[in-house]
Amino acid sequence: MGSGQVTDWQGKNVTVAGLGVSGIPVAKVLHARGAHVTVVNDGDDARARAQAAELEALGITVRLGDGATLPEGTELIVTAPGWKPDKPLFAAAREAGVPVWGDVELAWRLRGPDAAPWLAVTGTNGKTTTVQMLASILKAAGLRTAAVGNIGVSLLDAVLGDEQYDVLAVELSSYQLHWAPSLRAHSAAVLNLAPDHLDWHGSMEAYAADKGRIYEGNRVACVYNVADKATEDLVRAADVEEGCRAIGFTLGTPGPSQLGVVEGILVDRAFVENRQKNAQELAEVADVNPPAPHNIANALAAAALARAYGVPAKAVRDGLRAFTPDAHRIAHVADLDGVAYVDDSKATNTHAAQASLAAYESIVWIAGGLAKGAVFEELVARSAERLRAVVLIGADRGLIREALARHAPEVPVVDLDRTDTGAMLAAVQEAKRLAQPGDTVLLAPACASMDMFVNYNQRGDVFAEAVRELGAGA
Ligand code: ADP
Repeated sequence: MGSGQVTDWQGKNVTVAGLGVSGIPVAKVLHARGAHVTVVNDGDDARARAQAAELEALGITVRLGDGATLPEGTELIVTAPGWKPDKPLFAAAREAGVPVWGDVELAWRLRGPDAAPWLAVTGTNGKTTTVQMLASILKAAGLRTAAVGNIGVSLLDAVLGDEQYDVLAVELSSYQLHWAPSLRAHSAAVLNLAPDHLDWHGSMEAYAADKGRIYEGNRVACVYNVADKATEDLVRAADVEEGCRAIGFTLGTPGPSQLGVVEGILVDRAFVENRQKNAQELAEVADVNPPAPHNIANALAAAALARAYGVPAKAVRDGLRAFTPDAHRIAHVADLDGVAYVDDSKATNTHAAQASLAAYESIVWIAGGLAKGAVFEELVARSAERLRAVVLIGADRGLIREALARHAPEVPVVDLDRTDTGAMLAAVQEAKRLAQPGDTVLLAPACASMDMFVNYNQRGDVFAEAVRELGAGA
């Protein structure tokens, strides 16, 4: 299958691994182009059967309950990004010399000859926010664009749909990057690197290497985080196009070829004439919503990619001003009795929670849920001095309680021994009791939500409802 565009799918034997969000559209697209598509799926439940029936009606073969065996004659596998690389199907593919692509690789290969270039973003945290900021900046510059990939519109839709784009703002997960060997972005950013999804990747090295793939073949800029050396190391390791530059972003004063902050102003010392001497003002810190440190870093990364694409400084400011964050990302819910209530339910790992806790001076912290193997020592040690009190909920709250006992023994802790949905109201009531005027009650659980809630959205909604209930009763 080489590494270029594939235009002739007629009669190709393609196996699609996994029914679901990516698998179903992939199967349909390839079938419509004349490929012989077989979908394989581990599960065999009612939902899978209904989906299978829909595909079979089109003439697509579906094998339920067997995602391990490589169908006879397979020339290519297109896998759902979540499928673990150590699955037997992939070992069989390797043995048979069959390439494996993910949904992103497929979208990349199906692009037309004049397709819009990709400005790509990955990182452990901040991807969605940064990609949305980037799209907002590109729009402010009058460009036709969309935030796509791991969010909103799928890449396949963006690449094959009727909408014409000048440039795409693409969010990529580490899984998607793992399965996208020939992707070549115009420019790309790795925002940060902290241990996450290690069970899937096998090791921190493998996780970092997959993230680093985003820089491969970049044409204009590899954007890295000056405060996170691992991201700079990935730039160094990447094989890029001649003339492609390494561009750093920092919350401090930027050096040449960096974007940074000087006296409350976001400045560019990378995409300016004579960068040894000059800097271009882009926006004010106050233009970033919310102006929490980690979010200013996101804004700088978005600005770097936009500037790499040639966007004028004014569009950076206008785009940042026009941007509003998605729900449950440091969302201000209410002020009650001089206490701010903030929903950062999206802080589902310790790295995100740490960024969130760093944004406030005095905090009543609501935390806990499913730890996913995380260790809380560093998070608690670094945040201890900002904690007025802690309210713990969820299945793995004991791990956080132990870390608090070790690193913040003087901080009062309420341990709610409950995992029912009603526990959130109790948690908010406790937090209200513990908070003093000027404090922030912060839901930044550092854990996944599925022990008590459907997802982080519901967890945040239940928190906001509880706060409103409290407000109404006050
Ligand atoms: P992602 O798409 O990578 O999950 P989001 O933009 O949805 O990222 O943000 C997820 C959470 O990560 C936010 O709720 C916030 O707590 C935290 N976060 C956002 N940006 C950063 C950053 N640059 N560094 C650390 N944490 C961040």
